[in-house]
Order: sequence, then C-alpha cells, then structure tokens
Amino acid sequence: PLTGKRALVTGGASGIGAAVARSLAERGAHVVVADIDGAGAAALADELGGSSWTVDLLDTASLTDDILAEAVDGVDILVNNAGIQRINPIQDFDPVDFRRIITLMLEAPFLLIRAALPKMYENGFGRIINITSVHGIRASPFKSAYVSAKHGLEGLSKVTALEGGEHGVTSNCVSPGYVRTPLVEKQLAEQAAVHGIPEAEVLSRIMLTESAIKRLVEPEEVASLVAWLASEDAAMVTGSSYTMDGGWSAR
Ligand code: NAD
Repeated sequence: PLTGKRALVTGGASGIGAAVARSLAERGAHVVVADIDGAGAAALADELGGSSWTVDLLDTASLTDDILAEAVDGVDILVNNAGIQRINPIQDFDPVDFRRIITLMLEAPFLLIRAALPKMYENGFGRIINITSVHGIRASPFKSAYVSAKHGLEGLSKVTALEGGEHGVTSNCVSPGYVRTPLVEKQLAEQAAVHGIPEAEVLSRIMLTESAIKRLVEPEEVASLVAWLASEDAAMVTGSSYTMDGGWSAR
C-alpha cells in the first residue's frame, strides 16, 4: 500500500528506526535511512533497496536550507525518530547535554518538517510521524532534557497537524513505553549506577512499575503502528499521540 512513496527515517540505523525502515520498505516504500552511523545506515539501505543519508542531526548549523531541501526532496513520509538520553538530577545536569538533546530531538525535527512541507503541500499528501515517548506526556525524575524535548515534539506535531490539514498532510506522534533497543540497554546500566541496584531490578522495580503489562515493547510493534499511520487508512488521524506503553499512561 506504500508503493511509490518515499520515506525518510532519522536514526534509521538502529532500534526503533531500523524496525520502522524495514516495515515501510516491506510495504513498498523507498526508504532513506538517515543516521550519524553512516555505515549502519548504508548497510540497512542496501538490504532494503533504499538509500542512506549520513548526517549528524546535532550539527544544525550545517543543515542549511539547500542541504535539507535535497535530503527531503520527494519525501512523502517523514519519521522523526533519532534520539539520545542523559540521566542526571537537574542540579547535576550538564547544560551542554540539555542543549544537545533539545537540538537533536526538537530543533532537528522542526528543520526537517519545515523543509519537507512545501513539496508535501504541492502534492496534497504527506505523513509526518514523530517518535516521542511516554515521556512526551508523562515525566520521570532525572530526565529533564528528554522529557522537555519530547513534550516539545508533541506540541510541534500538533501545530504541524493544524497547518497541514488543508493540504493533505497529517502529523502524529507514537509514544512508546520502554522498547527493547540499544538505547534502553544503555539506560538499564545507567539507572543501575544512579540508584545503586542491579540491572535486573531496574527493569522490574523502576522501568516497568507503571506498566500494566510487565514486558518491554518490541521495536516491530512500534513499527507496525508507524506503518499504519503512514497509510491511507489513517488519513483522518492527525494531531494525535498514540501511546504504546503497556498501560503506563492509563494511571
Ligand atoms: P537507538 O539508540 O537504538 O537508535 C537511535 C539512532 O539514532 C541510532 O542509530 C543513532 O546512531 C541515531 N542518532 C543518534 N544521534 C544522532 C545524530 N546526532 N544524528 C543522526 N542520528 C543520530 O534508540 P531507540 O531506542 O531506537 O530510540 C529511537 C527513538 O525512540 C528515540 O527518539 C527515543 O527517544 C524514542 N523512544 C525510545 C524508547 C525506548 O525504550 N527505546 C521509548 C520511547 C521512545
């Protein structure tokens, strides 16, 4: 159903982004895998018959209008997924880290959306899909930058939905709980250090305390929802945020 469509997935070389790239390609889309990990992006693009874009989305000064216009040329489906995490109490949180997270996870999506919209408007079709998080709608201690960036991205997505509605462009967020990816495996170790407990306890006692279903989300489950949001079936879905958090945010 996505035959003839072109998709760009940021952070597409790993974790959720890679699963999203696969699921969009399986449905017939040409996928551009965008990542700072150029080798990983190229390898996956090869496998999927897509293309890759090696880019450091933190380096927004280099993301000129020309470079962005070329990167999003012909893109019908933009998936803003690249993200990082830092965990520290606010009083110890490095302001440099705070700015980096806001840049990568809020400013870069803004720049890509801004560059992609004119052609989408011209075509009368576009899908903006932002991978936020349960932390786009709920907070946790020690994640000031991440929670701020994800709440911001939820807001940006709603504004995009309002502006894009009359042009056939939808914008939505997918907000997962903890997903089994390298990012979470790293957090398990970091949380264990912050709380001074073993990693196994971090999962059961900290990460999944709020979740009604006590397991991690699989990347393929997130990718399946993204593929549906990209489809014609989801044409009336816009400005929404779909949680996939095992019931966490039902509390
Ligand atoms: P991941 O670490 O497995 O993958 C992130 C990808 O982003 C990597 O390929 C990395 O190279 C790329 N990336 C990092 N910095 C970049 C930069 N400066 N420029 C370009 N690419 C860059 O992470 P993931 O767990 O798959 O997370 C993907 C998204 O999903 C993130 O936005 C994350 O916040 C969100 N999310 C993850 C979880 C989870 O539990 N894993 C839960 C909710 C939301």
